[in-house]
Amino acid sequence: MLSSGYHSEYYFEKFRILEDPKLLRKFSEVLAGKFESYDIEWVVGPFTGGAILAYDLASLMGIKAGYAEKMDNRRVLKRGFDVEGRKVAVVDDVLTTGRSIKDTIEAVKNAGGIPVIAGVMVKRGEISLEIPVYCVIELEFPVYSPEKCPLCKRGLKLEIRGKGGV
Ligand SMILES: [Zn+2]
Repeated sequence: MLSSGYHSEYYFEKFRILEDPKLLRKFSEVLAGKFESYDIEWVVGPFTGGAILAYDLASLMGIKAGYAEKMDNRRVLKRGFDVEGRKVAVVDDVLTTGRSIKDTIEAVKNAGGIPVIAGVMVKRGEISLEIPVYCVIELEFPVYSPEKCPLCKRGLKLEIRGKGGV
């Protein structure tokens, strides 16, 4: 069972990438190539995974990294990240609903920054943003509502993954 409540035979664990600096760097290299012509000075990502990717990209590109933190129902740039008037790339690890990348774009704008480009390691859903978004890989898994799940019909044991799971 995924955090959406749907069932799937597959679960993508982003921390198999985020735990491996050499593998993560391969994703960063692809995104850095896409960001090259945008003249950015900051890369900003949401905690947790997006922040790790932002740090690696900033390290690779020789620019600064900022981190968007959860506050109430949104995200904010705290801790004095000086993005005001600067061109910013916004990144996240996995794009599913697009919620966290949208919230991070808002956080950058609220801090006076100028989001110009977005990038994600893995895209699992469709969204439209006000800025171009690049993904390194796209994944499509079949998902089933619990009532119509062929895996449950086959008697497979349900494991909970994602939020609230292991
Ligand atoms: Zn099922």
